[in-house]
Amino acid sequence: MEPLSDRTTSLGAAQGPRLAIDLDAIAANWRTFRTIAPAARVAPVVKADAYGLGAVPVTRRLLAEGADCFFVATLGEGLSLQRALGAQLRKASLYVLNGPMPGEAAAMAEAGLKPVLNSLEQWADWKRVSGGAPCALHIDTGMNRLGLGPGALDALCAAGDPFAGVAVDLIVSHLACGDEADAAMNGEQLQRFTAALDRLPQTPASLAASAGALLGSSYHFDLVRPGIGLYGGLEGSPFRVAARLLAPIVQVRRVDKGMTVGYGATYRLGGTRRLATVAAGYADGVMRSSSKGGRAAVEGVAVPLAGRVSMDLVTIDVTELPEAATQPGRLVEFFGDTIALNEAAASAGTIHYEILTRIGTRVARTYQGRAQ
Ligand SMILES: *Cc1c(COP(=O)(O)O)cnc(C)c1O
Repeated sequence: MEPLSDRTTSLGAAQGPRLAIDLDAIAANWRTFRTIAPAARVAPVVKADAYGLGAVPVTRRLLAEGADCFFVATLGEGLSLQRALGAQLRKASLYVLNGPMPGEAAAMAEAGLKPVLNSLEQWADWKRVSGGAPCALHIDTGMNRLGLGPGALDALCAAGDPFAGVAVDLIVSHLACGDEADAAMNGEQLQRFTAALDRLPQTPASLAASAGALLGSSYHFDLVRPGIGLYGGLEGSPFRVAARLLAPIVQVRRVDKGMTVGYGATYRLGGTRRLATVAAGYADGVMRSSSKGGRAAVEGVAVPLAGRVSMDLVTIDVTELPEAATQPGRLVEFFGDTIALNEAAASAGTIHYEILTRIGTRVARTYQGRAQ
């Protein structure tokens, strides 16, 4: 028999907030990138636990779909994915975007992880300890975050054979404005990337993340690196919704005109209203900054949040909905089919990436679709 505490935990999870993840939709979004960039490999970015959706189940499904190259951000993420997937992952490439922190290079080489080398310091570390193990090289083309800038690239090229003693199997760069199709910066970065590639030994190259892949084939090179687009962040057909944040109603009450709702008593009722209190709060990823102007949905109908989001609860105005639809236990959507992820982000004053990666640990991840 299971210990009582575990049963209590799983029972609680089944009745609390949940992130419903559609693995078939993620797989379909991956195939959509393959259609958009038919000449390139499509290498999923599964950093930050696949943007909160679960790196292990997402990677397992995409491996089954045929993906053979993945990106995480850190050594720890790479090791835990390898631990979870074992032999399933062994034939795939797993790149670590941040590259080796000081002292990490040997562990990365030993694990068979491929660092993205972002500076001459990381380059030197890898050259010293990798024993010829493969890696990627990041050329900064204007982001000024990571990667070799013009001076560092000059220094590397001054050495005659720039790749001597280092097995670079991918050269990457990253767009600052990939999600702004008209930004002049995109063309400038493309031009700088091409110029850098001309100075380096012939090597597969990668510039585009999700939005960059939509800028046209000149941005695809040999590999595209989508993250958010796999997880439902690119709206409109053929991309599919891949995650839905849901939580059940705890109770419903009728509240008189003139009364206020929630902390700070900021929300005053202009008439008698029916309010539902829902079992999710900012600890779960319902952003407190969306208290004003945020919406949730019940059975496909959007309704306003009423008052401030608190840690474990939020109140919504369900006056316009039939009572049968708002019984305790009924599920409320915070983003998904009715409330777009982008709307949830905009009402919270942030971006959809932050909405997904801030879903709390108390939120049960539930999966639908083929696992592998
Ligand atoms: C996070 C990241 C990606 C994925 O970006 P999306 O916009 O989520 O597709 C790709 N490349 C690099 C270098 C990244 O840091």
